[in-house]
Amino acid sequence: MSNNQIDSFFRKIDNNPIQKTLVIILAIIDGFVLLFSLTSGFSGLLAAAIICFFVDTLMWQICGFFTRCPFCNERFAMVKESSQYLGDSPATKTVRQKIRNKYGEVIATYDQTVPATRSHYLETYRCLYCKGEKKTNASYKS
Ligand SMILES: [Zn+2]
Repeated sequence: MSNNQIDSFFRKIDNNPIQKTLVIILAIIDGFVLLFSLTSGFSGLLAAAIICFFVDTLMWQICGFFTRCPFCNERFAMVKESSQYLGDSPATKTVRQKIRNKYGEVIATYDQTVPATRSHYLETYRCLYCKGEKKTNASYKS
């Protein structure tokens, strides 16, 4: 790659909020991994660098795939624009309960199903390149 290509590659990342966030997250994780690998010497550092490279490449591909625009096929394209609250519906969730003896020590646990709420949203995603709009239903349990 020439200097010009590298320069335009970084300018493209700088203009794309999805790629920018991903680069920052991966750089922080890689930084910690490489720092801790130093304790096992040069071979540890080399192994960590290779693992980081493959994990980063994989994460880049996965992230690109899930943010692909269905209209223009650009990757790293769909950004959440708005989220419209539609309402709640009843749901259940499982919580782990503890059984204690008279000394307060946990002697057993069991799973109990309790009522919960599921909140529904209509989320709007917009393509950074062709401005195409995609609406999806999302729900979050609380
Ligand atoms: Zn698009």
